[in-house]
Amino acid sequence: MEWLEERQAVLRTAQSMFQAGLVLGTAGNVSVRVNQREGRTLLAITPTQRPYLTLRPEDIPVIDEEGEAILGDLPPSSESLLHIAIYRARPDVHAIVHTHSPYASACAVAGLAIPPILDELVVYAGGTVEVAPYGFPGSQDLADKAVYALGDRCAVLLRHHGVVGVGRSLEQALQVCLLVERAAQVFILARLLGNAPCLPPEAVEAERAIYIMRQRPGQT
Ligand SMILES: [Zn+2]
Repeated sequence: MEWLEERQAVLRTAQSMFQAGLVLGTAGNVSVRVNQREGRTLLAITPTQRPYLTLRPEDIPVIDEEGEAILGDLPPSSESLLHIAIYRARPDVHAIVHTHSPYASACAVAGLAIPPILDELVVYAGGTVEVAPYGFPGSQDLADKAVYALGDRCAVLLRHHGVVGVGRSLEQALQVCLLVERAAQVFILARLLGNAPCLPPEAVEAERAIYIMRQRPGQT
């Protein structure tokens, strides 16, 4: 079976996302770049509306940059345009995880970006997790707004919707979604305590430099 390893990895990551409580039911989606064919990006992406725990690797569709099916019988995620737009804009990104985790979604509903309040958020997500303006689920409008708000960082919130985490691997993309959820929880609790200040600017600058270094190819 073509791209078996990548499709298995997408499935494993989607199951981990579900089991970690980042989504309910069939919500969320996961993709990875599988190949460049004649200069085109192909991606393996979770199918739409299927329970993650009963899927098989051969159920994971492979699509091209136009969203056309290359492999697989099941229709791809309804957020395929979002994934395609991010891969087009960010050649450094090789994997994407989209979740609806509750604390990060609360920030997304409130329109509150998660500021650099924790060292690890800057080192692994690249700084403030911005909120993309609202876009209708599955639309090109949502995809464009998400790409703009993501910038050169590894995470973005989608207004009234959820979280997108990106990385050079599926593990990184999932880890950044978990980190954003934890940071959102800490941010909300700190605000409830009455004070959620940012890190000192010099720490943010130093940690941004570490982030940029880690984004280079070959770094872990
Ligand atoms: Zn969603």
